Amino acid sequence: MCELLKQQGITDDAVLKAMGAVRRHWFLDSALDALAYEDRALKIGADQTISRPSTVAMQSQLLCVESGMKVLEIGTGSGYQAAVLSKMGAKVFSIERQKELFDHTRPLLAELGCRVRCFLGDGYQGLTEVDQAPFDRIIVTCGAREMPEALMAQLKVGGIMVIPIGGDDTQEMLRFTKTGEGRGEWEKEEFGRYSFVPMLDGRQMH
Ligand code: SAH
Repeated sequence: MCELLKQQGITDDAVLKAMGAVRRHWFLDSALDALAYEDRALKIGADQTISRPSTVAMQSQLLCVESGMKVLEIGTGSGYQAAVLSKMGAKVFSIERQKELFDHTRPLLAELGCRVRCFLGDGYQGLTEVDQAPFDRIIVTCGAREMPEALMAQLKVGGIMVIPIGGDDTQEMLRFTKTGEGRGEWEKEEFGRYSFVPMLDGRQMH
């Protein structure tokens, strides 16, 4: 899989190393074992999908994570992206809005020994359950309609947020670097079109 990722422009050694070590099939139903290392999104239940490995790698690379950084992820899903970031040495906090996925993935990540704290909540609000903001990095793994202001407020000045923004079908992968505490004080870079499941409001308790 790492060879394929290199061909797709992934050059960050820490990302390649983490993705070589964290096995993707651990996060999937065993019926999907044969497909786990293909570059495609796969079903994880609750109408959601695990992102393609190339997308996980690209988002991880764009995030410029360093060991020890506090990272907030929106959209825990299967836990795969969170596990990769934790393998890279990040302290990961991850929010999922669907209870079914939260109940499945939190114990799985604990069992695998990943340093990830999972929360059931609405990522549009950021992390409100515990007082851990501001974060060095924020990664959103579902497609947002607009920049969630509460999330930007929870990012450190100098911090980076990677977030796909657009419509329900496709979104632009954006990287924001926060330059000050005021509204609109950030720089934005664009990294092409992707297709994520939508980022939805509110938590879902079933
Ligand atoms: N990072 C995940 C990707 C899962 S797909 C992985 O590696 O498997 C995106 C996830 O975002 C879905 O599980 C979906 O339920 C969740 N999601 C959508 N809107 C959300 C919101 N507002 N807050 C938190 N999670 C959300």
